[in-house]
Amino acid sequence: MSERPPVDGHCEQCGFDYGTGDLQGTVTLLIRQSADCSMALTKAAAGPDPKVVRLRPEPEVWSAIEYACHVRDVLEVQRLRIAQCLAEDRPVYAPMDRTGRVKQEKYEDQDPMEVAAALMRMAREFGAAARVLQPHELGKLGLYNYPVRAPRTLGWIIRHTAHEIQHHRHDIIEILAKVEPPIIPKPKPAPEDTPEEASAGEAAADGAPESGAGGSGGSTAEVSAD
Ligand SMILES: [Zn+2]
Repeated sequence: MSERPPVDGHCEQCGFDYGTGDLQGTVTLLIRQSADCSMALTKAAAGPDPKVVRLRPEPEVWSAIEYACHVRDVLEVQRLRIAQCLAEDRPVYAPMDRTGRVKQEKYEDQDPMEVAAALMRMAREFGAAARVLQPHELGKLGLYNYPVRAPRTLGWIIRHTAHEIQHHRHDIIEILAKVEPPIIPKPKPAPEDTPEEASAGEAAADGAPESGAGGSGGSTAEVSAD
């Protein structure tokens, strides 16, 4: 199911292509996709059932809030890596521990509105750091850990970050589409029939119907409203 997305070429799942787009175009794309992530989360959190942002569609698949927290943190970590790469001779990036953070940072308990705002702030800061890179800086190598330990150029890090965001934008929207309730008006709750209390036997068969609505005998499978 969760095939690892590629780190080169074309991604079948989200359509990202490592081979196209110059620096400015890539950064613009990243900002736009970040805005989409932020907006999707905000919309769902302000919708009829805000807790959908915390629902995992499957036990092993992150919820929208978890993905959004991840996107926010990726943007921050990658911005710091740009700075590290520029500052050091032979940069070796520390792994970000993507899965460990989910629990440590309590992603699922975070406030979706704050996450959405922080995500956008991190996208703008990443964009500002990336846009000013010069060609010789974009070619600078550092030792990167994902998916395997390998030297990567700063230019690749920018493209890879843009891919991460586009890929997870796709995830967030897909997950919300799965867990969000359809927008249809809720049926009016049926007037509650008082449960026929044990005034035993002789139910006044054709006597006065105590409570309207010819209560068809018994088990009303209540449509639980949550
Ligand atoms: Zn992808």
